[in-house]
Amino acid sequence: MKTFISPKTISELNEFISNNKNRNIIFLAGGTDLLVDQEKFNTADIIIDLNKISELRNISVYCEKINIGSTCTMTDIAKYKQLQNIFPLLVNAATNVGSPQIRNRATIAGNIANASPAGDTIPVLSVAEAKIRIFNLEKNKELLVPINKFFLGPGQTILKNGDYIVGFEVPSKILQDCEYAFYKVGQRQALSISKLSVTCLYQLSHKKIHKIRMAAGSVAPTVKRLYKTEEYLQNSNLSYAENEVMRFVKSEIEPITDVRSTEEYRKEITGRLVLKCLQEMKS
Ligand SMILES: Cc1cc2nc3c(=O)[nH]c(=O)nc-3n(C[C@H](O)[C@H](O)[C@H](O)COP(=O)(O)OP(=O)(O)OC[C@H]3O[C@@H](n4cnc5c(N)ncnc54)[C@H](O)[C@@H]3O)c2cc1C
Repeated sequence: MKTFISPKTISELNEFISNNKNRNIIFLAGGTDLLVDQEKFNTADIIIDLNKISELRNISVYCEKINIGSTCTMTDIAKYKQLQNIFPLLVNAATNVGSPQIRNRATIAGNIANASPAGDTIPVLSVAEAKIRIFNLEKNKELLVPINKFFLGPGQTILKNGDYIVGFEVPSKILQDCEYAFYKVGQRQALSISKLSVTCLYQLSHKKIHKIRMAAGSVAPTVKRLYKTEEYLQNSNLSYAENEVMRFVKSEIEPITDVRSTEEYRKEITGRLVLKCLQEMKS
């Protein structure tokens, strides 16, 4: 028989998990992914609803970092004034998820833990070099894990049974004086999972690219940071060779053909969107 619980505090949650280590535990946040994944839902012995734990739904902005709680919804993020100023890239991505109804339910941790290569907040947290606060059941304590160490493949993460995401830490220094670009290509303008996406966080200084971080979504088993392309462009004076940029981008991604798009389209358009980001920097 399934158990469904809805703890009200983190300590109540941790105590319950520790006492039920040997049962198959699943966490429920907004349910927008989980409730359509019947297989996952059906195999769980215990479903833990995180929505009543107010400690998990906080956003705080400090000088050196931004903390975002796991159950903050896309709407919470989109409406948070300080984030609009300090981290507009995340606000933009959150605003582009699904529809208003989905954004009112869909949480940031659900988007990350679901580990879809199409998850819209993943490339954003990736270029911002966010760290994930994870409650680790085995060690019975919180760990801070860099986002690029979290994903193992589509739908797969380092989380073990009973581990859960407490929240996210974004270093403010990385966002300071940066501009951004976020392009998502979908079947429609709204309510559309991406065929591919390109995210770029950059800083120009004296007409040179002083800092650049790029990531592409839906073009590999996990969201890809474009490290080689970044290295090629770093410190360049925007007089890059377009065909070289295309070559680097294409060498870094491994898209597949599926119901949403083809391998060829994804490769070509990802490259062109990276060029579009660079064009934007010139203007
Ligand atoms: C119509 C529709 C449109 C959509 N459009 C988009 C879109 O445009 N862009 C996009 O990126 N996504 C989209 N999605 C997918 C989905 O809405 C997002 O991935 C959402 O952020 C998932 O969050 P959730 O809170 O609903 O997660 P849930 O469904 O509750 O959980 C998803 C997974 O994460 C796990 N989980 C949740 N919280 C935690 C936690 N704190 N710790 C550990 N594990 C956890 C759950 O166990 C489950 O495996 C769409 C979905 C639908 C149904």
